[in-house]
Amino acid sequence: MAKTYAIAVIGIGKITEDQHLPVIAKNPRFALAALVSQRGVARPGVPSFKTIDALLDSGTAFDAVAICTPPNVRHAIARRAIDSGKHLLLEKPTTATVTESEDLARRVAAKKGCVAFATWHSQYNAAVEEARRLLMGQRIARLHVEWKEDVRRWHPGQEWIWAPGGFGVFDPTINAFSILTRILPEPLFITAAELTTPANRETPIAARIAFRSDAASADAPLSAEVDWRQTGPQSWNIDIETESGTKLALRDGGSKLAVDGRPKVEARLEEYERIYERFAEMLDQGEGDMDYAPLRLVADAFLVGKRVETDPFEW
Ligand code: NAP
Repeated sequence: MAKTYAIAVIGIGKITEDQHLPVIAKNPRFALAALVSQRGVARPGVPSFKTIDALLDSGTAFDAVAICTPPNVRHAIARRAIDSGKHLLLEKPTTATVTESEDLARRVAAKKGCVAFATWHSQYNAAVEEARRLLMGQRIARLHVEWKEDVRRWHPGQEWIWAPGGFGVFDPTINAFSILTRILPEPLFITAAELTTPANRETPIAARIAFRSDAASADAPLSAEVDWRQTGPQSWNIDIETESGTKLALRDGGSKLAVDGRPKVEARLEEYERIYERFAEMLDQGEGDMDYAPLRLVADAFLVGKRVETDPFEW
């Protein structure tokens, strides 16, 4: 019989309540062993601790942790978990900096038997997989990402997203980047970025980004427009045209794919269900995935990006 893994969840915020806890509850491969919540959020019959140290000191038996805190505290928590011989599932983005992700990947590789899974939830759609298959060996003539959503709807009152290390609009943009790094046949490079930042905030609310790729000629238009000020219908679209003329349209965050205007894949969004199924497989096989290419692209956007000031933002 397949093993059930005892898992502790750290950081009981929006994504944990919306996805991690319900998905763990319905996946027989996992049993919720503990919560770690600074605010003391609890569930009946499940022990709750204020810190990972308190959890580890308690002697509670568990195999793995899911770390769902804001990114700036992930590295320290993940290191503690690795050093204590626990497996790891990291919410996106892996960590606040590239060097921290690199460090975790190195430590995981050095710790015998430790399985770490850097999750990029938008990669787990049938439409994304089909786009990847169709783009294999192709040259890209044009690419445009339109990732526009309403920050008040998706991040209500979350002040950390506006603090240094909070990513601003790159918090959702990294989902588009994770699709691009998954489906494109060659790496993508950021050549320029305009980071539109509210006068009273530290991180951008919108951005325009230009890319280049070895899979495209030097003058091919490869671009992204991302914005957190979109009310009404939300746009999570990626359009790619190959040099041979095939047009791929990924819609709704990569859940739908049309090819040359005709629907090709339309699947229900079950990203977190797929993530936990995959994590169970990784634990069974003893091999994880610490890819942090999407984080590197965000870092590059900040490195080459030009700050442009805009109106102050208030909730
Ligand atoms: P959130 O609602 O602000 O929740 C984060 C939780 O982490 C807080 O509620 C808090 O829970 C804990 N926390 C906050 N500061 C901490 C600190 N300094 N040290 C330790 N724990 C701390 O944020 P979220 O929307 O759930 O996002 C969390 C992560 O998931 C982010 O990296 C985000 O990018 C990613 N994510 C979010 C979404 C989404 O739709 N919102 C989707 C996919 C991925 P306790 O008080 O219980 O400790």
